[in-house]
Amino acid sequence: MVKYVYFFGDGKAEGSAKQKNLLGGKGANLAEMTNIGLPVPAGFTISTEVCTYYYEHGKKYPKTLEAEVKAAMKKTEKVMGARFGDPKNPLLVSARSGARVSMPGMMDTVLNIGLNDETIKGFIEATGSERAGWDSYRRFVQMYGDVVMGLKPESSEEHDPFEEVMDKLKAKAKVKEDTDLSIDDLKELVKQFKAMIKRKLKVDFPEDPWEQLWGAINAVFGSWDIPRAIQYRRLNGIPDDWGTAVNICSMVFGNMGDDSATGVAFTRDPSTGEDAFYGEYLVNAQGEDVVAGIRTPQPVNEVTKKKTGSDLPSLEKAMPKSYKELIRIRNILEKHYGDMQDIEFTIQKGRLWMLQTRSGKRTGFSAVRVAVDMVDQKLCTQEDAVARLDPEGLIQLLAPIFEPKARAAAQKSGKVLAKGLNAGPGAACGKATFSAEVAEARASKGERVILIRIETSPEDIKGMAVAQGILTARGGMTSHAAVVARGMGKPCVAGCGSLSIDYKTKKMVVAGKTIKEGDFVSIDGTTGEVIIGELPTVDSEVLQVLRGKMKPAKSKLYQQYFKLMSWSDKFRTIGVRTNADTPVDSAVARAFGAEGIGLCRTEHMFFEGTRIDAMREMILAEDVAGREKALKKLLTHQRKDFEGIFKAMNGLPVTIRLLDPPLHEFVPHEDKQQKELAKKLGIPVAKLKARVDSLHEMNPMLGHRGCRLGCTYPEITRMQARAIFEAAANCAKKKIKALPEVMVPLVGTVKELDNQKAIINAVAEEVKQEKKLRKLDYMVGTMIEIPRAALTADKVAASAEFFSFGTNDLTQMTFGYSRDDAGGFIPFYIDKKILPDDPFQRLDQEGVGQLVDIGIQKGRSTRKNLKVGICGEHGGEPSSVKFCHRVGMNYVSCSPYRVPVARLAAAQAGIEDKRAAKPKKK
Ligand code: PEP
Ligand code: MG
Repeated sequence: MVKYVYFFGDGKAEGSAKQKNLLGGKGANLAEMTNIGLPVPAGFTISTEVCTYYYEHGKKYPKTLEAEVKAAMKKTEKVMGARFGDPKNPLLVSARSGARVSMPGMMDTVLNIGLNDETIKGFIEATGSERAGWDSYRRFVQMYGDVVMGLKPESSEEHDPFEEVMDKLKAKAKVKEDTDLSIDDLKELVKQFKAMIKRKLKVDFPEDPWEQLWGAINAVFGSWDIPRAIQYRRLNGIPDDWGTAVNICSMVFGNMGDDSATGVAFTRDPSTGEDAFYGEYLVNAQGEDVVAGIRTPQPVNEVTKKKTGSDLPSLEKAMPKSYKELIRIRNILEKHYGDMQDIEFTIQKGRLWMLQTRSGKRTGFSAVRVAVDMVDQKLCTQEDAVARLDPEGLIQLLAPIFEPKARAAAQKSGKVLAKGLNAGPGAACGKATFSAEVAEARASKGERVILIRIETSPEDIKGMAVAQGILTARGGMTSHAAVVARGMGKPCVAGCGSLSIDYKTKKMVVAGKTIKEGDFVSIDGTTGEVIIGELPTVDSEVLQVLRGKMKPAKSKLYQQYFKLMSWSDKFRTIGVRTNADTPVDSAVARAFGAEGIGLCRTEHMFFEGTRIDAMREMILAEDVAGREKALKKLLTHQRKDFEGIFKAMNGLPVTIRLLDPPLHEFVPHEDKQQKELAKKLGIPVAKLKARVDSLHEMNPMLGHRGCRLGCTYPEITRMQARAIFEAAANCAKKKIKALPEVMVPLVGTVKELDNQKAIINAVAEEVKQEKKLRKLDYMVGTMIEIPRAALTADKVAASAEFFSFGTNDLTQMTFGYSRDDAGGFIPFYIDKKILPDDPFQRLDQEGVGQLVDIGIQKGRSTRKNLKVGICGEHGGEPSSVKFCHRVGMNYVSCSPYRVPVARLAAAQAGIEDKRAAKPKKK
């Protein structure tokens, strides 16, 4: 029989942290904390398998589930000394979602389950807390009415119906805060909430605790499939079939008076990574108050107080005993998990309870610092630190910062209008937008936007994803906006109290200045500053060091980055090259750690300056002689480019691809430009037009391009080969070691390659003779980007000395999706779950991956030491890099800025291999 429910409590749990897939992150860690003796209120986890079952069986549960839930509830009751539904001494529980990886705020949670008109009396009797009882009851009806029964505002403009009732009552009672409501007010709220539910939904609020519990369980499983959760999974690459677990936890009460509290904290500063406990709490409150940002949270300690500039008392000062206990637990957790944790806690009448721990979401900056510090502090090994980092996070270290002079000028001239919390580092600038919908609409037109909200909610997730940065008036460092922005790597300034935002008029007033929708604002998530207008940005610190503009000793961040990268390289077995077409890009990529060029697209060189004229002259020429005349001009340019690239890559291999795109991409199509060109070339416009028209193809991506050009116009291949070899020879004279790898594109049959290879070899021989060289190092290989080439790779490899998988075209041709038109339907396919994600971004391992695997195996069957790489966009995407490692490629190649990402992902692939080969001893 399958076990679906896992109990935890009283120092023993049926699960452990290893079972995240089955119990979800929250459930697994509740079990783990219980097992290591931390104070966790007893409860049980309903596994993610139930979620999968639920969706596969028309929202029905396995037959045995109910009995298992009942049995686990009995155990929980025993530990907690109260009974669920007992009118005299009722146990109250919460139902909390928890997937394998955390999806902050995306799914639902229900607190205080088990309260009704009878149990409320027993609760008050047993706890002696009348106010907490009624406060919990009104929260329960409100939350249950919203989450389970679905009484919500109809649009984002509308107010929450429960909040509206509450606001009216507060106005009547002349109080500002929820905590100021009297017991009678709270009783009245329960009554009014229930009446509103009956009136609007035409059903009674359920009084039976078990009905309440199953309603909540349904709602939590149901919330796996609500739009914001789906959207979050898309953005974070979380598969739909993982499912969530449901955790039923005994309630502990942070709302039992001034000796009670609830809070969230990070074991280190999540923005900077500094080794300083960081968090927020609220006195006399329940968990949702902190996350929602409704009340201004208080700092957990003096350090947080200083950082946030708060004038409210810290937990450290207000409840020193509980704080000391919290720090003790913080240290245990960091040591046990060897990673920064994000925790939730509740203090009930001076007693501390742990409600959650998980690996803390952090920025790219803080991730690097935490990793390096924790290794130095011997809290984790280099291997663990590398294995855990999100490779994409490294991109943030390379992201621009505001230009210091412009920033100083802005400060001087009073353009810095306000300062909020530095919730997500980085500089961002864009047009002000006050709703997620407007942000999306403007971003889809190519505008840069800053999303400005009073506070964000999970509904804003799409707008946050497209914005350059996020700015909120309310909420702390652990508010929704802050947590999600950091997860996305977006600059974020949160809790900027001096902003006065009006959604209706689409305006915000700050420091006496009005910013309307569409006006430029700049935010600095590293300092928390909000600046009016558009500020220019410059290279990040790491980039400045890599480019030699700053000394390494001056940048701590660079030193940390460097350490981490050198650790990564120890675990990496697959090479990392770059796709670069210019000496400047090559040099940048080399500084990032590229070990050569995996793809130099020569056609990019034909667009610069007057070169395009020579290219056009070549294309429009009527015969070989005319073409050769124009090609001679191009030769000079190309040779010079190659010399520059060889110099930048001195001693490292450089794969140069011969001309690939269809010729019509190089000629002008508009009247005015055609006339100008005809004049330049001294030919009649009509003749030029006729030639341009003759180049038109119905389907150019499958037309006259790639090696088909080289085969039909051998003089082009001859010129390119000559430019490459002459450049290599010239470099050799200057003691620069050039290692060209000449790559033939778009080969479908080995005969195409043979044809081109013969030309290339002949030119190499000519240059060798002309330059009187003893030897000329080079290789000739091909791209594998047509399925036929992969399927006949044994034959192709007999001729090719190396393969480079062009997975952009290979994806296009395997799926039959045009690269240029797929944007029209892929988002829809992803939305409808026809595709798990965009195969042009993340390699389709199941289909395209098979061709890659076959290609490598067949290729190596005829050429044992065949060098294999990838140069499609996938070469810089972490999951694809790991795939390339597994199928035995020698290297991946990606754009310069993704080289560090690929190095880290490749290291992780190496570690995963090692771990799979040597399972850890129990
Ligand atoms: C490819 O097809 O994957 C490739 C790298 O070539 P391009 O993108 O230039 O077609
Ligand atoms: Mg291609």
